[in-house]
Amino acid sequence: MAVRQCWCRQCQQVAGGGPTHNAMFATADVRLSGELATHAYVAASGNTLTQSFCARCGTPVMAQSSARPQFRTIRLGFLDPGHGLAPQMAIWTADAPDWARIDPALEQHRGQPPAPASTR
Ligand SMILES: [Zn+2]
Repeated sequence: MAVRQCWCRQCQQVAGGGPTHNAMFATADVRLSGELATHAYVAASGNTLTQSFCARCGTPVMAQSSARPQFRTIRLGFLDPGHGLAPQMAIWTADAPDWARIDPALEQHRGQPPAPASTR
């Protein structure tokens, strides 16, 4: 539904310093198998964010927000190559470090952008 690059502090921690790259899917369209480990916390927005990782290797898999249960945000690096997805938007750019180079071709938001319209 949307592909975003996120520079929020939590994403910088997950990604090792840079942004995360995330593809939002309708929850009903997502099927996962295997064991996930999760970490949930209350974000600055007041919503609970749950990050999921592979329980075996720690690879970031997805995130979800209590405010938007209709979406699952899958980490782009988790998907097999060939998906053809690329970021359209950079978000939470106000939290990006001074050395960050954000593609000026991307739509940019200093904080949280509006949610994409749900198709169901
Ligand atoms: Zn983020």
